[in-house]
Amino acid sequence: MGSFISNYIVIVSLAGILNVLLAFLAYFRRTDFQGTKAFVAIAITSAIYIFGYAVELSSGSLEEIRFWTKIEYIGLPFISPADLILVLYFVGLDKLLNRITLPLLFVIPAISCLLALTNDYHHLLYREMYLHPDAPFPTAEIVMGPWYIVHGSYTFGCLCAGGCIILAKWNSMKHNYKWQMLTLLVGIILPSAASLAYLFGLSPYGMDPVPVVMSVTSTLYIIAIWSRGMLTAAPIARESLFGHLSDGVLVLDLFERLVDYNPAAEQLIHGLNASCIGKPLAPLLEKSSPETLNFILNTDASATAENQVEWKVGEKTYHYLLRCTPLRNNGGRFIGRIVKLTDVTEQTLLQRKLHLMATKDSLTEIYNRGYWMDKARQALASCKESGEPLAVILLDVDHFKSINDRYGHDTGDEALRHIVAICSSLVTEEKPFGRYGGEEFVICLPGTNLDQAGQVAEAIRECIAASPFVAASQQVQITASFGVADHHYGDTLEEMLGAADKALYRSKNGGRNQVYLARSKIPVNKETSSNH
Ligand code: GH3
Ligand code: MG
Ligand code: MG
Repeated sequence: MGSFISNYIVIVSLAGILNVLLAFLAYFRRTDFQGTKAFVAIAITSAIYIFGYAVELSSGSLEEIRFWTKIEYIGLPFISPADLILVLYFVGLDKLLNRITLPLLFVIPAISCLLALTNDYHHLLYREMYLHPDAPFPTAEIVMGPWYIVHGSYTFGCLCAGGCIILAKWNSMKHNYKWQMLTLLVGIILPSAASLAYLFGLSPYGMDPVPVVMSVTSTLYIIAIWSRGMLTAAPIARESLFGHLSDGVLVLDLFERLVDYNPAAEQLIHGLNASCIGKPLAPLLEKSSPETLNFILNTDASATAENQVEWKVGEKTYHYLLRCTPLRNNGGRFIGRIVKLTDVTEQTLLQRKLHLMATKDSLTEIYNRGYWMDKARQALASCKESGEPLAVILLDVDHFKSINDRYGHDTGDEALRHIVAICSSLVTEEKPFGRYGGEEFVICLPGTNLDQAGQVAEAIRECIAASPFVAASQQVQITASFGVADHHYGDTLEEMLGAADKALYRSKNGGRNQVYLARSKIPVNKETSSNH
Protein backbone atom coordinates (compact mmCIF):
# COMPACT_ATOMS: atom_id res chain seq x y z
CA MET A 1 0.00 0.00 0.00
CA GLY A 2 2.98 2.21 0.68
CA SER A 3 4.01 2.02 -2.97
CA PHE A 4 0.39 2.79 -4.04
CA ILE A 5 0.33 6.02 -2.08
CA SER A 6 3.82 7.01 -3.21
CA ASN A 7 2.88 6.35 -6.86
CA TYR A 8 -0.28 8.35 -6.31
CA ILE A 9 1.71 11.24 -4.87
CA VAL A 10 4.05 11.11 -7.89
CA ILE A 11 1.12 11.31 -10.30
CA VAL A 12 -0.46 14.17 -8.34
CA SER A 13 2.86 16.02 -8.22
CA LEU A 14 3.24 15.48 -11.95
CA ALA A 15 -0.17 17.10 -12.47
CA GLY A 16 1.07 20.04 -10.39
CA ILE A 17 4.25 20.36 -12.46
CA LEU A 18 2.22 20.17 -15.67
CA ASN A 19 0.06 23.04 -14.45
CA VAL A 20 3.08 25.19 -13.61
CA LEU A 21 4.41 24.42 -17.09
CA LEU A 22 1.03 25.29 -18.56
CA ALA A 23 0.98 28.63 -16.74
CA PHE A 24 4.41 29.53 -18.14
CA LEU A 25 3.56 28.28 -21.61
CA ALA A 26 0.36 30.31 -21.75
CA TYR A 27 1.98 33.40 -20.23
CA PHE A 28 4.93 33.46 -22.59
CA ARG A 29 2.86 32.62 -25.63
CA ARG A 30 2.09 36.37 -25.79
CA THR A 31 -0.90 36.44 -28.07
CA ASP A 32 -3.77 38.83 -28.56
CA PHE A 33 -6.17 36.38 -27.01
CA GLN A 34 -7.63 38.10 -23.96
CA GLY A 35 -8.63 34.80 -22.36
CA THR A 36 -4.96 33.91 -21.83
CA LYS A 37 -5.06 35.60 -18.40
CA ALA A 38 -7.92 33.32 -17.34
CA PHE A 39 -5.97 30.35 -18.63
CA VAL A 40 -2.86 31.33 -16.65
CA ALA A 41 -5.08 31.83 -13.58
CA ILE A 42 -6.55 28.34 -14.02
CA ALA A 43 -3.10 26.79 -14.28
CA ILE A 44 -1.72 28.66 -11.23
CA THR A 45 -4.74 28.01 -8.98
CA SER A 46 -4.79 24.36 -10.10
CA ALA A 47 -1.07 24.06 -9.32
CA ILE A 48 -1.62 25.47 -5.79
CA TYR A 49 -4.49 23.07 -5.19
CA ILE A 50 -2.65 20.06 -6.60
CA PHE A 51 0.64 20.66 -4.77
CA GLY A 52 -1.32 21.27 -1.57
CA TYR A 53 -3.01 17.94 -2.09
CA ALA A 54 0.26 16.16 -2.88
CA VAL A 55 1.72 17.36 0.45
CA GLU A 56 -1.56 16.52 2.20
CA LEU A 57 -1.23 12.96 0.91
CA SER A 58 2.26 12.65 2.34
CA SER A 59 1.22 14.12 5.71
CA GLY A 60 1.54 11.98 8.78
CA SER A 61 -1.00 13.64 11.11
CA LEU A 62 -4.46 15.20 11.04
CA GLU A 63 -2.91 18.54 11.98
CA GLU A 64 -0.71 18.50 8.89
CA ILE A 65 -3.65 17.42 6.73
CA ARG A 66 -5.71 20.32 8.11
CA PHE A 67 -2.93 22.74 7.31
CA TRP A 68 -2.46 21.57 3.72
CA THR A 69 -6.19 21.52 3.10
CA LYS A 70 -6.17 25.23 3.90
CA ILE A 71 -3.39 25.75 1.34
CA GLU A 72 -5.47 23.83 -1.27
CA TYR A 73 -8.30 26.27 -0.74
CA ILE A 74 -6.08 29.20 -1.76
CA GLY A 75 -6.37 27.78 -5.30
CA LEU A 76 -9.33 25.38 -5.51
CA PRO A 77 -12.35 27.73 -5.29
CA PHE A 78 -11.01 29.99 -8.04
CA ILE A 79 -10.50 27.31 -10.70
CA SER A 80 -14.09 26.91 -11.89
CA PRO A 81 -14.98 30.63 -12.26
CA ALA A 82 -11.70 31.07 -14.18
CA ASP A 83 -12.77 28.12 -16.37
CA LEU A 84 -16.07 29.86 -17.07
CA ILE A 85 -14.28 33.11 -17.94
CA LEU A 86 -11.99 31.26 -20.35
CA VAL A 87 -15.02 29.75 -22.09
CA LEU A 88 -16.71 33.16 -22.32
CA TYR A 89 -13.62 34.57 -24.03
CA PHE A 90 -13.47 31.63 -26.38
CA VAL A 91 -17.02 31.89 -27.57
CA GLY A 92 -16.89 35.67 -27.87
CA LEU A 93 -19.21 36.34 -24.94
CA ASP A 94 -16.53 38.22 -23.02
CA LYS A 95 -18.67 41.37 -23.29
CA LEU A 96 -20.59 39.82 -20.39
CA LEU A 97 -17.48 40.32 -18.28
CA ASN A 98 -17.26 43.84 -16.94
CA ARG A 99 -16.19 45.73 -13.83
CA ILE A 100 -19.21 44.41 -11.96
CA THR A 101 -19.66 40.83 -13.19
CA LEU A 102 -15.97 39.94 -13.14
CA PRO A 103 -15.38 40.66 -9.40
CA LEU A 104 -18.83 39.18 -8.63
CA LEU A 105 -17.71 35.83 -10.04
CA PHE A 106 -14.99 35.71 -7.39
CA VAL A 107 -17.05 36.70 -4.33
CA ILE A 108 -18.09 33.13 -3.39
CA PRO A 109 -14.60 31.67 -4.10
CA ALA A 110 -13.02 34.42 -1.93
CA ILE A 111 -15.42 33.61 0.90
CA SER A 112 -14.72 29.88 0.50
CA CYS A 113 -10.99 30.56 0.68
CA LEU A 114 -11.41 32.78 3.76
CA LEU A 115 -13.68 30.28 5.49
CA ALA A 116 -11.23 27.45 4.77
CA LEU A 117 -8.39 29.42 6.36
CA THR A 118 -10.49 30.22 9.43
CA ASN A 119 -12.54 27.01 9.57
CA ASP A 120 -11.25 26.09 13.04
CA TYR A 121 -13.18 29.05 14.46
CA HIS A 122 -16.59 28.55 12.83
CA HIS A 123 -16.65 25.12 11.09
CA LEU A 124 -18.79 26.57 8.31
CA LEU A 125 -16.87 24.77 5.57
CA TYR A 126 -16.02 21.54 7.34
CA ARG A 127 -18.12 20.65 10.31
CA GLU A 128 -15.63 17.99 11.21
CA MET A 129 -12.45 16.44 9.85
CA TYR A 130 -11.05 13.17 11.11
CA LEU A 131 -8.64 10.46 9.99
CA HIS A 132 -10.12 7.71 7.84
CA PRO A 133 -10.36 4.75 10.17
CA ASP A 134 -9.79 1.99 7.54
CA ALA A 135 -7.21 3.68 5.31
CA PRO A 136 -3.77 2.08 5.40
CA PHE A 137 -2.23 5.58 5.29
CA PRO A 138 -3.32 8.86 6.93
CA THR A 139 -6.17 10.34 4.93
CA ALA A 140 -8.91 12.67 6.11
CA GLU A 141 -12.68 12.18 6.13
CA ILE A 142 -14.81 15.29 6.31
CA VAL A 143 -18.30 16.20 7.44
CA MET A 144 -19.62 18.99 5.26
CA GLY A 145 -20.51 22.33 6.78
CA PRO A 146 -23.20 24.65 5.30
CA TRP A 147 -20.73 26.69 3.24
CA TYR A 148 -19.31 23.51 1.70
CA ILE A 149 -22.66 23.11 -0.09
CA VAL A 150 -22.50 26.71 -1.34
CA HIS A 151 -18.90 26.22 -2.48
CA GLY A 152 -19.67 22.86 -4.16
CA SER A 153 -22.80 24.16 -5.90
CA TYR A 154 -21.00 27.23 -7.12
CA THR A 155 -18.09 25.18 -8.46
CA PHE A 156 -20.42 22.82 -10.34
CA GLY A 157 -22.60 25.73 -11.46
CA CYS A 158 -19.64 27.46 -13.10
CA LEU A 159 -18.43 24.27 -14.75
CA CYS A 160 -21.94 23.38 -15.96
CA ALA A 161 -22.42 26.87 -17.38
CA GLY A 162 -19.07 26.63 -19.20
CA GLY A 163 -19.91 23.19 -20.61
CA CYS A 164 -23.39 24.28 -21.72
CA ILE A 165 -22.02 27.40 -23.46
CA ILE A 166 -19.53 25.29 -25.41
CA LEU A 167 -22.25 22.83 -26.44
CA ALA A 168 -24.61 25.66 -27.41
CA LYS A 169 -21.94 27.17 -29.67
CA TRP A 170 -20.83 23.83 -31.06
CA ASN A 171 -22.84 23.91 -34.29
CA SER A 172 -21.96 27.46 -35.16
CA MET A 173 -18.26 26.60 -35.07
CA LYS A 174 -16.11 25.73 -38.01
CA HIS A 175 -14.44 22.36 -38.13
CA ASN A 176 -10.93 23.69 -37.47
CA TYR A 177 -11.88 25.12 -34.06
CA LYS A 178 -13.77 22.10 -32.83
CA TRP A 179 -10.60 20.40 -31.60
CA GLN A 180 -9.80 23.35 -29.36
CA MET A 181 -13.34 23.46 -28.06
CA LEU A 182 -13.33 19.73 -27.44
CA THR A 183 -10.17 20.17 -25.37
CA LEU A 184 -11.90 22.86 -23.34
CA LEU A 185 -14.96 20.69 -22.91
CA VAL A 186 -12.91 17.69 -21.76
CA GLY A 187 -10.98 20.06 -19.45
CA ILE A 188 -14.30 20.88 -17.79
CA ILE A 189 -16.14 17.56 -17.89
CA LEU A 190 -13.35 15.24 -16.63
CA PRO A 191 -12.57 17.15 -13.40
CA SER A 192 -16.31 17.65 -12.79
CA ALA A 193 -16.95 13.90 -13.13
CA ALA A 194 -13.99 13.16 -10.86
CA SER A 195 -15.24 15.57 -8.16
CA LEU A 196 -18.71 14.03 -8.36
CA ALA A 197 -17.17 10.59 -7.85
CA TYR A 198 -15.29 12.01 -4.86
CA LEU A 199 -18.43 13.61 -3.40
CA PHE A 200 -20.44 10.39 -3.73
CA GLY A 201 -17.68 8.44 -2.02
CA LEU A 202 -16.76 6.44 -5.12
CA SER A 203 -13.02 7.06 -4.85
CA PRO A 204 -10.88 4.65 -2.75
CA TYR A 205 -10.41 5.71 0.90
CA GLY A 206 -12.00 9.09 0.16
CA MET A 207 -9.02 10.13 -1.93
CA ASP A 208 -9.52 13.07 -4.30
CA PRO A 209 -9.18 11.89 -7.94
CA VAL A 210 -9.39 15.41 -9.42
CA PRO A 211 -5.62 16.14 -9.37
CA VAL A 212 -4.94 12.87 -11.25
CA VAL A 213 -7.58 13.71 -13.84
CA MET A 214 -6.01 17.14 -14.12
CA SER A 215 -2.73 15.61 -15.23
CA VAL A 216 -4.65 14.26 -18.25
CA THR A 217 -6.47 17.52 -19.02
CA SER A 218 -3.29 19.57 -18.55
CA THR A 219 -1.49 17.32 -21.04
CA LEU A 220 -4.35 17.85 -23.49
CA TYR A 221 -4.07 21.62 -23.05
CA ILE A 222 -0.32 21.52 -23.63
CA ILE A 223 -0.82 19.53 -26.85
CA ALA A 224 -3.56 21.93 -27.94
CA ILE A 225 -1.38 24.97 -27.33
CA TRP A 226 1.56 23.51 -29.23
CA SER A 227 -0.10 21.84 -32.15
CA ARG A 228 -3.55 23.31 -32.54
CA GLY A 229 -2.84 26.98 -32.07
CA MET A 230 -4.95 27.12 -28.93
CA LEU A 231 -4.74 30.53 -27.25
CA THR A 232 -3.44 32.15 -30.44
CA ALA A 233 -6.81 33.76 -31.04
CA ALA A 234 -10.29 33.57 -29.67
CA PRO A 235 -11.71 31.53 -32.52
CA ILE A 236 -15.31 32.04 -31.64
CA ALA A 237 -14.84 35.69 -30.76
CA ARG A 238 -13.19 36.14 -34.12
CA GLU A 239 -15.87 34.00 -35.69
CA SER A 240 -18.71 35.96 -34.18
CA LEU A 241 -17.24 39.15 -35.60
CA PHE A 242 -16.46 37.53 -38.92
CA GLY A 243 -19.79 35.72 -38.86
CA HIS A 244 -21.88 38.80 -38.32
CA LEU A 245 -20.24 40.88 -41.00
CA SER A 246 -22.74 41.75 -43.71
CA ASP A 247 -19.88 41.68 -46.24
CA GLY A 248 -18.93 38.35 -47.72
CA VAL A 249 -15.38 37.40 -46.72
CA LEU A 250 -13.17 34.69 -48.18
CA VAL A 251 -9.74 33.84 -46.84
CA LEU A 252 -7.38 32.36 -49.40
CA ASP A 253 -3.96 30.80 -49.07
CA LEU A 254 -1.00 31.44 -51.39
CA PHE A 255 -2.38 28.99 -53.93
CA GLU A 256 -5.87 30.54 -54.10
CA ARG A 257 -7.31 27.72 -52.03
CA LEU A 258 -10.10 28.51 -49.63
CA VAL A 259 -8.99 28.69 -45.99
CA ASP A 260 -12.07 30.24 -44.43
CA TYR A 261 -15.28 32.08 -45.25
CA ASN A 262 -18.14 33.73 -43.39
CA PRO A 263 -21.92 33.12 -43.56
CA ALA A 264 -22.43 36.19 -45.77
CA ALA A 265 -20.11 34.62 -48.36
CA GLU A 266 -22.05 31.37 -48.06
CA GLN A 267 -25.23 33.23 -49.00
CA LEU A 268 -23.55 34.80 -51.97
CA ILE A 269 -21.66 31.89 -53.47
CA HIS A 270 -23.78 28.98 -54.52
CA GLY A 271 -22.27 25.68 -53.40
CA LEU A 272 -19.94 27.18 -50.78
CA ASN A 273 -19.82 24.97 -47.69
CA ALA A 274 -17.36 23.52 -45.18
CA SER A 275 -16.25 20.85 -47.66
CA CYS A 276 -14.79 23.58 -49.91
CA ILE A 277 -12.15 24.48 -47.31
CA GLY A 278 -8.71 23.55 -48.60
CA LYS A 279 -9.94 23.34 -52.21
CA PRO A 280 -9.27 25.75 -55.10
CA LEU A 281 -11.56 28.73 -55.40
CA ALA A 282 -11.96 28.59 -59.19
CA PRO A 283 -14.80 26.02 -59.53
CA LEU A 284 -16.85 27.94 -56.97
CA LEU A 285 -16.66 31.32 -58.66
CA GLU A 286 -16.74 30.19 -62.28
CA LYS A 287 -20.53 30.10 -62.22
CA SER A 288 -21.54 33.01 -60.00
CA SER A 289 -18.99 35.57 -61.06
CA PRO A 290 -16.23 34.75 -63.56
CA GLU A 291 -15.37 38.46 -63.42
CA THR A 292 -14.51 38.12 -59.71
CA LEU A 293 -12.43 35.01 -60.34
CA ASN A 294 -10.47 36.73 -63.12
CA PHE A 295 -9.79 39.70 -60.92
CA ILE A 296 -8.58 37.55 -58.02
CA LEU A 297 -6.38 35.42 -60.25
CA ASN A 298 -4.93 38.26 -62.29
CA THR A 299 -4.06 40.85 -59.66
CA ASP A 300 -0.87 41.10 -57.69
CA ALA A 301 -1.65 39.07 -54.57
CA SER A 302 0.77 41.00 -52.37
CA ALA A 303 -0.95 44.37 -52.88
CA THR A 304 -4.42 45.66 -52.04
CA ALA A 305 -6.68 45.78 -55.09
CA GLU A 306 -10.25 46.91 -55.61
CA ASN A 307 -12.79 46.47 -58.37
CA GLN A 308 -16.52 46.55 -58.91
CA VAL A 309 -17.95 43.27 -60.18
CA GLU A 310 -21.31 41.85 -61.15
CA TRP A 311 -22.87 38.75 -59.59
CA LYS A 312 -25.70 36.83 -61.16
CA VAL A 313 -28.07 35.23 -58.67
CA GLY A 314 -30.87 33.62 -60.69
CA GLU A 315 -32.38 36.32 -62.86
CA LYS A 316 -31.02 39.15 -60.77
CA THR A 317 -27.75 41.00 -61.17
CA TYR A 318 -26.03 42.35 -58.08
CA HIS A 319 -23.10 44.71 -57.92
CA TYR A 320 -20.28 44.05 -55.49
CA LEU A 321 -17.24 46.00 -54.48
CA LEU A 322 -14.43 43.46 -54.46
CA ARG A 323 -11.45 44.18 -52.24
CA CYS A 324 -8.43 41.90 -52.05
CA THR A 325 -6.07 42.52 -49.14
CA PRO A 326 -2.81 40.64 -48.55
CA LEU A 327 -2.70 38.59 -45.38
CA ARG A 328 0.53 38.45 -43.39
CA ASN A 329 1.50 36.44 -40.33
CA ASN A 330 2.96 37.96 -37.16
CA GLY A 331 6.41 37.91 -38.72
CA GLY A 332 5.12 39.95 -41.69
CA ARG A 333 5.41 37.01 -44.10
CA PHE A 334 2.78 37.01 -46.85
CA ILE A 335 0.56 33.95 -46.29
CA GLY A 336 -2.55 34.57 -48.37
CA ARG A 337 -5.35 36.97 -49.09
CA ILE A 338 -8.60 38.24 -47.69
CA VAL A 339 -11.28 38.84 -50.30
CA LYS A 340 -14.10 41.08 -49.14
CA LEU A 341 -17.30 41.50 -51.12
CA THR A 342 -19.50 44.47 -50.26
CA ASP A 343 -22.96 44.72 -51.79
CA VAL A 344 -23.12 48.05 -53.62
CA THR A 345 -26.13 47.20 -55.79
CA GLU A 346 -28.32 49.90 -54.30
CA GLN A 347 -25.70 52.64 -54.66
CA THR A 348 -24.76 51.48 -58.16
CA LEU A 349 -28.37 51.51 -59.36
CA LEU A 350 -28.93 54.90 -57.73
CA GLN A 351 -25.78 56.27 -59.35
CA ARG A 352 -26.90 54.95 -62.71
CA LYS A 353 -30.32 56.48 -62.21
CA LEU A 354 -28.79 59.81 -61.27
CA HIS A 355 -26.50 59.65 -64.26
CA LEU A 356 -29.48 58.83 -66.46
CA MET A 357 -31.44 61.73 -65.00
CA ALA A 358 -28.54 64.07 -65.55
CA THR A 359 -27.87 62.98 -69.11
CA LYS A 360 -31.02 61.58 -70.68
CA ASP A 361 -34.43 62.94 -71.58
CA SER A 362 -36.98 60.88 -69.67
CA LEU A 363 -39.60 60.78 -72.46
CA THR A 364 -37.43 59.79 -75.41
CA GLU A 365 -34.36 58.41 -73.60
CA ILE A 366 -31.99 60.30 -75.85
CA TYR A 367 -29.55 62.93 -74.52
CA ASN A 368 -31.10 65.96 -72.86
CA ARG A 369 -30.11 69.40 -74.06
CA GLY A 370 -27.41 70.03 -71.44
CA TYR A 371 -25.64 66.70 -71.94
CA TRP A 372 -25.96 66.94 -75.72
CA MET A 373 -24.29 70.37 -75.60
CA ASP A 374 -21.40 68.89 -73.55
CA LYS A 375 -20.97 66.01 -75.98
CA ALA A 376 -21.20 68.25 -79.05
CA ARG A 377 -18.70 70.72 -77.59
CA GLN A 378 -16.23 67.89 -76.96
CA ALA A 379 -16.76 66.64 -80.54
CA LEU A 380 -16.25 70.16 -81.93
CA ALA A 381 -13.03 70.59 -79.95
CA SER A 382 -11.56 67.32 -81.21
CA CYS A 383 -12.66 68.02 -84.83
CA LYS A 384 -11.00 71.45 -84.62
CA GLU A 385 -7.84 69.79 -83.40
CA SER A 386 -7.82 67.18 -86.14
CA GLY A 387 -9.01 69.62 -88.82
CA GLU A 388 -12.10 67.59 -89.56
CA PRO A 389 -15.47 69.13 -90.44
CA LEU A 390 -18.44 69.06 -88.07
CA ALA A 391 -22.11 69.78 -88.77
CA VAL A 392 -25.29 70.10 -86.72
CA ILE A 393 -28.86 69.32 -87.78
CA LEU A 394 -31.76 71.00 -85.98
CA LEU A 395 -35.22 69.59 -86.64
CA ASP A 396 -38.63 70.76 -85.50
CA VAL A 397 -41.85 68.74 -85.88
CA ASP A 398 -44.36 70.54 -88.09
CA HIS A 399 -47.69 71.60 -86.65
CA PHE A 400 -47.08 69.49 -83.59
CA LYS A 401 -49.48 71.54 -81.53
CA SER A 402 -52.32 70.39 -83.77
CA ILE A 403 -51.32 66.70 -83.21
CA ASN A 404 -51.64 67.30 -79.49
CA ASP A 405 -54.91 69.11 -79.98
CA ARG A 406 -56.45 66.44 -82.20
CA TYR A 407 -55.20 63.22 -80.66
CA GLY A 408 -54.27 64.20 -77.11
CA HIS A 409 -51.00 64.79 -75.28
CA ASP A 410 -50.21 61.08 -74.87
CA THR A 411 -50.41 60.52 -78.59
CA GLY A 412 -48.18 63.59 -78.97
CA ASP A 413 -45.64 61.88 -76.73
CA GLU A 414 -45.88 58.71 -78.83
CA ALA A 415 -45.29 60.81 -81.94
CA LEU A 416 -42.11 62.24 -80.41
CA ARG A 417 -40.83 58.73 -79.64
CA HIS A 418 -41.73 57.72 -83.23
CA ILE A 419 -39.57 60.57 -84.60
CA VAL A 420 -36.71 59.62 -82.27
CA ALA A 421 -36.88 56.00 -83.44
CA ILE A 422 -36.59 57.08 -87.09
CA CYS A 423 -33.66 59.42 -86.41
CA SER A 424 -31.86 56.81 -84.32
CA SER A 425 -32.19 54.25 -87.11
CA LEU A 426 -30.57 56.63 -89.61
CA VAL A 427 -27.83 58.14 -87.45
CA THR A 428 -25.03 56.02 -86.03
CA GLU A 429 -24.79 55.71 -82.27
CA GLU A 430 -21.56 57.61 -81.85
CA LYS A 431 -23.16 60.78 -83.28
CA PRO A 432 -24.62 62.75 -80.39
CA PHE A 433 -28.42 62.99 -80.80
CA GLY A 434 -30.48 64.95 -78.31
CA ARG A 435 -33.78 66.59 -77.51
CA TYR A 436 -33.20 70.28 -77.88
CA GLY A 437 -36.53 71.20 -76.30
CA GLY A 438 -40.29 70.48 -76.80
CA GLU A 439 -40.60 68.98 -80.29
CA GLU A 440 -37.15 70.05 -81.44
CA PHE A 441 -34.25 67.66 -81.85
CA VAL A 442 -30.59 68.14 -82.62
CA ILE A 443 -27.91 65.91 -84.13
CA CYS A 444 -24.17 66.52 -84.08
CA LEU A 445 -22.23 65.00 -86.97
CA PRO A 446 -18.46 65.02 -86.40
CA GLY A 447 -16.37 64.39 -89.52
CA THR A 448 -19.30 65.47 -91.75
CA ASN A 449 -19.43 68.55 -93.94
CA LEU A 450 -22.45 70.72 -94.67
CA ASP A 451 -23.55 68.90 -97.83
CA GLN A 452 -23.15 65.43 -96.32
CA ALA A 453 -25.12 66.57 -93.26
CA GLY A 454 -27.78 67.97 -95.63
CA GLN A 455 -28.08 64.49 -97.20
CA VAL A 456 -28.48 62.88 -93.77
CA ALA A 457 -31.17 65.43 -92.86
CA GLU A 458 -32.91 64.89 -96.16
CA ALA A 459 -32.95 61.11 -95.62
CA ILE A 460 -34.48 61.60 -92.18
CA ARG A 461 -37.06 64.08 -93.51
CA GLU A 462 -38.09 61.65 -96.28
CA CYS A 463 -38.36 58.77 -93.87
CA ILE A 464 -40.51 60.74 -91.40
CA ALA A 465 -42.77 61.94 -94.19
CA ALA A 466 -43.08 58.42 -95.56
CA SER A 467 -43.78 56.79 -92.18
CA PRO A 468 -47.16 57.87 -90.90
CA PHE A 469 -47.60 57.30 -87.22
CA VAL A 470 -50.48 55.06 -86.12
CA ALA A 471 -52.53 56.33 -83.18
CA ALA A 472 -55.89 54.95 -82.06
CA SER A 473 -56.08 52.98 -85.36
CA GLN A 474 -55.69 56.18 -87.35
CA GLN A 475 -52.75 57.09 -89.49
CA VAL A 476 -51.25 60.39 -88.43
CA GLN A 477 -49.11 62.06 -91.04
CA ILE A 478 -46.10 63.76 -89.49
CA THR A 479 -43.46 65.91 -91.10
CA ALA A 480 -40.53 67.87 -89.77
CA SER A 481 -38.49 70.86 -90.90
CA PHE A 482 -34.70 70.96 -90.78
CA GLY A 483 -31.91 73.50 -90.56
CA VAL A 484 -28.28 72.45 -91.10
CA ALA A 485 -25.07 74.34 -90.37
CA ASP A 486 -21.42 73.38 -90.10
CA HIS A 487 -18.23 74.73 -88.53
CA HIS A 488 -17.94 77.40 -91.20
CA TYR A 489 -20.93 79.11 -89.60
CA GLY A 490 -19.38 79.89 -86.26
CA ASP A 491 -16.45 79.26 -84.02
CA THR A 492 -18.62 78.07 -81.19
CA LEU A 493 -21.36 75.49 -80.97
CA GLU A 494 -23.86 78.23 -80.05
CA GLU A 495 -23.03 80.17 -83.22
CA MET A 496 -23.45 77.03 -85.35
CA LEU A 497 -26.77 76.29 -83.67
CA GLY A 498 -27.85 79.90 -84.30
CA ALA A 499 -27.08 79.44 -88.01
CA ALA A 500 -28.93 76.09 -88.07
CA ASP A 501 -31.90 77.73 -86.36
CA LYS A 502 -32.02 80.44 -89.02
CA ALA A 503 -31.95 77.76 -91.74
CA LEU A 504 -34.75 75.91 -89.90
CA TYR A 505 -36.75 79.16 -89.84
CA ARG A 506 -36.40 79.33 -93.60
CA SER A 507 -37.65 75.74 -93.88
CA LYS A 508 -40.72 76.65 -91.85
CA ASN A 509 -41.32 79.79 -93.83
CA GLY A 510 -40.71 77.95 -97.09
CA GLY A 511 -43.64 75.62 -96.45
CA ARG A 512 -42.26 73.11 -93.84
CA ASN A 513 -41.19 69.46 -94.47
CA GLN A 514 -37.93 70.74 -95.96
CA VAL A 515 -34.19 70.80 -95.24
CA TYR A 516 -32.34 74.10 -95.51
CA LEU A 517 -28.59 74.44 -95.35
CA ALA A 518 -27.17 77.49 -93.60
CA ARG A 519 -25.79 78.88 -96.84
CA SER A 520 -28.80 78.20 -99.14
CA LYS A 521 -31.88 80.12 -100.06
CA ILE A 522 -33.51 76.96 -101.42
CA PRO A 523 -34.19 73.58 -99.75
CA VAL A 524 -31.79 70.67 -100.24
CA ASN A 525 -34.11 68.59 -102.44
CA LYS A 526 -34.59 71.53 -104.80
CA GLU A 527 -30.87 72.29 -104.66
CA THR A 528 -30.06 68.72 -105.73
CA SER A 529 -32.60 68.74 -108.54
CA SER A 530 -31.44 72.22 -109.72
CA ASN A 531 -27.84 70.93 -109.79
CA HIS A 532 -28.84 68.11 -112.17
P1 GH3 B 1 -44.53 74.56 -86.09
O1 GH3 B 1 -44.80 73.76 -87.31
O2 GH3 B 1 -44.48 76.03 -86.40
O3 GH3 B 1 -43.33 74.10 -85.39
O4 GH3 B 1 -45.81 74.42 -85.20
P2 GH3 B 1 -45.88 73.63 -83.85
O5 GH3 B 1 -47.29 73.43 -83.49
O6 GH3 B 1 -45.07 72.38 -83.95
O7 GH3 B 1 -45.13 74.60 -82.89
P3 GH3 B 1 -45.50 75.26 -81.55
O8 GH3 B 1 -44.20 75.80 -80.98
O9 GH3 B 1 -46.63 76.18 -81.72
O10 GH3 B 1 -46.00 74.07 -80.67
C1 GH3 B 1 -45.15 73.11 -80.13
C2 GH3 B 1 -45.99 72.25 -79.26
O11 GH3 B 1 -45.29 71.15 -78.78
C3 GH3 B 1 -46.51 72.99 -78.06
C4 GH3 B 1 -46.29 72.03 -76.91
O12 GH3 B 1 -47.48 71.82 -76.18
C5 GH3 B 1 -45.90 70.76 -77.58
N1 GH3 B 1 -45.00 70.01 -76.78
C6 GH3 B 1 -43.80 70.41 -76.31
N2 GH3 B 1 -43.23 69.39 -75.59
C7 GH3 B 1 -44.11 68.35 -75.61
C8 GH3 B 1 -44.11 67.03 -75.06
O13 GH3 B 1 -43.17 66.61 -74.38
N3 GH3 B 1 -45.16 66.24 -75.30
C9 GH3 B 1 -46.21 66.66 -76.06
N4 GH3 B 1 -47.21 65.81 -76.27
N5 GH3 B 1 -46.25 67.89 -76.56
C10 GH3 B 1 -45.21 68.72 -76.36
MG1 MG C 1 -40.88 74.31 -81.95
MG1 MG D 1 -43.01 72.57 -84.31
